[in-house]
Amino acid sequence: QASALSCCQVALRLWEHPYNKVCGDCGAANPEWASVNLLLVICQHCAGMTAHLVHVKIINAEGCVTAE
Ligand SMILES: [Zn+2]
Repeated sequence: QASALSCCQVALRLWEHPYNKVCGDCGAANPEWASVNLLLVICQHCAGMTAHLVHVKIINAEGCVTAE
């Protein structure tokens, strides 16, 4: 699970950045997902639109889960 952990770390680093408080694709507020491939924080809708990419769902500043 080393890769999942690093994906989570990447996602949280993105999510914590003040620039990433809106979806990087559509601009929706408070996105909960991150695309590790695109290095973007994105909303649930946009995560669903790009399901072929690696996504993690951010739970809070310290944790996230990898999407199937
Ligand atoms: Zn979006």
